[in-house]
Amino acid sequence: MTTFTKLTLGLLATSSIAFAGVEAHWDYGQHGPEHWGHFSETCEKGKEQSPINIQTEKTLQLDKSYTVKLSEAYDGVSTVIDNGHSLKVTPHDAGYITLHGKDYKLQQFHFHGMSEHTIDGRRYNAVMHMVHSAKDGSIAVVAVLFEVGEENPALAKILNADGSVKVNPNDLLPEDTDHYYHYKGSFTTPPCTENVQWYIFKDTVNISKAQLKKLRKYYTNNERPTQPLNKRVVQTK
Ligand SMILES: [Zn+2]
Repeated sequence: MTTFTKLTLGLLATSSIAFAGVEAHWDYGQHGPEHWGHFSETCEKGKEQSPINIQTEKTLQLDKSYTVKLSEAYDGVSTVIDNGHSLKVTPHDAGYITLHGKDYKLQQFHFHGMSEHTIDGRRYNAVMHMVHSAKDGSIAVVAVLFEVGEENPALAKILNADGSVKVNPNDLLPEDTDHYYHYKGSFTTPPCTENVQWYIFKDTVNISKAQLKKLRKYYTNNERPTQPLNKRVVQTK
């Protein structure tokens, strides 16, 4: 009985620590990126984390025949929510991308008030992350960088949405989707899960100053600092 009690207490103690971890939710302030190891060990100890700074001089040219096939057309309804970390759009059904013959369905896309990846040290005005998953659970994220310019009509629909929106993710893609950077990284938020295939388009899309202001009103500093590249090589096409 004593042993049982001790064991129970031991388990309780362990679970209460874990519970405290869940209760004190991660964020970009007091529980910011330098503390994310408390929420998931991978955030602190992972060797293939994201985002990274892409040094274009050190990238490796991909075979020209390699393509990411985009089939993102979707004219249905999506849910729009402020999840406390970003503005997130979840289609009820959606399109997909094809990598090496495998389909990855679009699960959700969300925005950061500044780009998380930097290119030769340059941080872009904002970014959209399109999170895709395959039937076997593997993940691929497509990143679209924003630069200040004309108003973006598709983004306007999302920024003006009240809980739901009819937006075609295709309309948020840049004109040139044939050129991108590719590497293997992680989610940029806890649990920082690795083995995520990243595709970052070189071509950018517009966001007006007013739209950027609107986006940043809710999401300032929701970017994780860039992580060490370690042994990885970034590919380019
Ligand atoms: Zn993101």
